[in-house]
Amino acid sequence: MEDNILEVKGLKQYFPIRGGVFQRTVGHVKAVDGVSFNIKRGETLGVVGESGCGKSTLGRSIMRLYKMTAGQVLFNGEDFSKLSKKELRKKRLEMQMVFQDPYSSLNPRMTVGQIIGEALTDHKMGNREEVRKKVKETMELCGLPQYYINRYPHEFSGGQRQRIGIARSLAVDPSFVICDEPVSALDVSIQAQIINLLSDLQKQKHLSYMFISHDLSVVEYISDRVAVMYLGNIVEMAPKEELYKNPLHPYTKALLSAIPIPDPKATRNRIILSGDLPSPANPPSGCKFRTRCPIACEKCAQSVPEYRNIGNNHYIACHLVGAQDASAESKPQTNENATL
Ligand code: SF4
Repeated sequence: MEDNILEVKGLKQYFPIRGGVFQRTVGHVKAVDGVSFNIKRGETLGVVGESGCGKSTLGRSIMRLYKMTAGQVLFNGEDFSKLSKKELRKKRLEMQMVFQDPYSSLNPRMTVGQIIGEALTDHKMGNREEVRKKVKETMELCGLPQYYINRYPHEFSGGQRQRIGIARSLAVDPSFVICDEPVSALDVSIQAQIINLLSDLQKQKHLSYMFISHDLSVVEYISDRVAVMYLGNIVEMAPKEELYKNPLHPYTKALLSAIPIPDPKATRNRIILSGDLPSPANPPSGCKFRTRCPIACEKCAQSVPEYRNIGNNHYIACHLVGAQDASAESKPQTNENATL
């Protein structure tokens, strides 16, 4: 569909586990296991989930930083998964990524000007003066004074470094940006500045974002729609207002119950999730969430729940949601002190 800037269909990203004398493949880590969604032009899709759920791998697979195992990625209607290396290099200019760690993602030997202008120079997008002019314009856009152009990354704070990272991504005028935990390594006060900067840039440059984060408050602020991932699959996806007001999947409910309320008098019952995230190399049968789900039933171990639209653009993968007797059965255990 023309309206979509990105369509992901059945994306799988498996990594081989090698063992034995001959280092044969003895299994696979199923980091992303059949994920489908779309992102509209100008939209922000938030992707949330615990550490290890596959959200960052999903972003990197879309960028084709890994060779995907199966599935399709259509970018502006073009099959991104079938491009040659040369075509991919060119196309990647339209799809950029902002990384989590502003300390390790910038080359300490390069000046700010060289970092931001690197892709422009590599792709011969102008002569020296033109590149320098574009770098300065992008710096201004990202709230960096132009006189920083000859300084090195170690001279900057975390927030400023992330601004440099954002400027590097935007210098080539992309239409789609994958933001992989862009504020997780920053102080809370700086987080707000970077989120506001990303929002402003989106309006000015008509960008579409995929915003990956484990912080549901941040995702709520910036996203139009939110996808919740668990062990390589999207278990629930809905417009932001719908998901935060009416979460249906037990995992989403548990995640939302752990968001702190900024009122010392207010209380919230937290939902217990027992155990750790199972290994993606050996996920549970049926519903992958069943080993931690407070309302799991027999059927959950036997069959994989269908990922379906239950109305209002609200997608969910759970046997019990929508079933007549689900509400009677679904009484989650609660505990004030429980954590995820
Ligand atoms: Fe829980 Fe079963 Fe629904 Fe999975 S399918 S979330 S185990 S109730």
